[in-house]
Amino acid sequence: MNAVTLSICFCIVIGTFLFWEFVAWFTHKHIMHGFLWTWHKSHHTIHQQVLEKNDWFVVVFSLPSIGLLYYFSLVIYSPYGIAVGVGVFFYGVFYIIFHDVIVHQRIKWRPKKRSSYLQRMINAHYIHHGKHTKEGCEAFGFLIAPKKYAPKQFTYKKERQETQ
Ligand SMILES: [Zn+2]
Ligand SMILES: [Zn+2]
Repeated sequence: MNAVTLSICFCIVIGTFLFWEFVAWFTHKHIMHGFLWTWHKSHHTIHQQVLEKNDWFVVVFSLPSIGLLYYFSLVIYSPYGIAVGVGVFFYGVFYIIFHDVIVHQRIKWRPKKRSSYLQRMINAHYIHHGKHTKEGCEAFGFLIAPKKYAPKQFTYKKERQETQ
């Protein structure tokens, strides 16, 4: 692979990663809080189980990247197609680390030092969980959130209450 192809692939990975935030936001807002609320409801319900019905979304969302990586490496070879698959895969990894670990603490780890950007994203998702209903939720993104969720308007104490 030459340097030009590699640079194009790199841009495709970044572009796909950013585009996938839109896909995730759209899916969360219109599908998970839409006709698949039957799965997502489990994630807006306080419970003690290890797994949620909502985890099926992680399984479903892994399929595009598995499909793309399989198709463009074994069926028709295309480094650009593989780059799209890698971008989707990276978004999935980011989502699990951000959403399931950092925000929901399914694994008890959280960066001690948080940038204002990270704190803003965490705040936004706690606000999302402030409601346990299909309708009326806000902040559906995971990578991009409006300024109003910036740390100075939101204390850590309040954040803890939102999750209880
Ligand atoms: Zn939701
Ligand atoms: Zn959540």
